[in-house]
Amino acid sequence: MVMTAALPEGITVFERGWLSANNVLFHGDGETTLIDSGYCTHAEQSLELVSRALKGRPLDQLINTHLHSDHCGGNAELQLYYPLMETRIPPGLEQQVRNWDPVALTYAPTGQQCPRFNISSVIEPGKEIALGNSSWQIHGSPGHDPHSVILFEPRSRALISGDSLWENGFGVIFQELEGERAFYEVAGTLDLIESLDPAVVIPGHGKVFTHVSQSLAAARRRLEIFRHDPLKHASHAAKVLLKFKLLELQRSHLTALTHWAEATPYFNLVHARFFCDVEKSTWITQLAADLVRSGAARREGAYLQNR
Ligand SMILES: [Zn+2]
Repeated sequence: MVMTAALPEGITVFERGWLSANNVLFHGDGETTLIDSGYCTHAEQSLELVSRALKGRPLDQLINTHLHSDHCGGNAELQLYYPLMETRIPPGLEQQVRNWDPVALTYAPTGQQCPRFNISSVIEPGKEIALGNSSWQIHGSPGHDPHSVILFEPRSRALISGDSLWENGFGVIFQELEGERAFYEVAGTLDLIESLDPAVVIPGHGKVFTHVSQSLAAARRRLEIFRHDPLKHASHAAKVLLKFKLLELQRSHLTALTHWAEATPYFNLVHARFFCDVEKSTWITQLAADLVRSGAARREGAYLQNR
């Protein structure tokens, strides 16, 4: 749990890992709100963190910055515990959530899990929303995800950045993998963040940070590398998806993990688009070996252990 002096009063950030996104809880004056709910296998822990901090108060509102499984996987559990809570998402996938379409919501293609949840309404970029006793601006932040939003409070200059900006980088640019140009959207979102001039950033993953210009510069350098070498981005993305599965499983037989990846549509898509000159199972085995080489996993005999 992180309490940062630079944050407005009444906000607590639960810094999670990479399987679950961070959760931002508004529990001061006004309605209580949680931003993002983590991954489903951590749902009980998320609920525990929230209910303990609320000390018996109900959670009035849940908002998702975007609908990746690590940001809304705890929604269903929170809705069970707080039946009167309003759940609000960015526009763009409202019908897909109401009809529950796990393909359009990316859970099926990425081989990730997300229990079905309900929504009350959408939050509109360009408008403001009351969080605690402050008014926060809602900005669209396409790039990592076309429908994601960031939230900005001009008095404290606090920014909730989701996966659009982390201390060291930003989330995988999924549309680029699917053949739609989105690197320029990431650049636009980084420009938007710079124009807001945040004093403190609460990212979707990693710690709260204040050296924003440094992080923006690092993100732009990273974007340039990907822009000049989209294969590098595609390979990075596939490793992120494989590592995410390993985070969920913690330990897996290497054969089982590679079979899982071979049967997961997103790996097929990335392989077919970028790496079809290498046999698919060889490519996936190389990805796993790269995770070991970079220290993201450890090889223990026939098993791969998360690190
Ligand atoms: Zn994301």
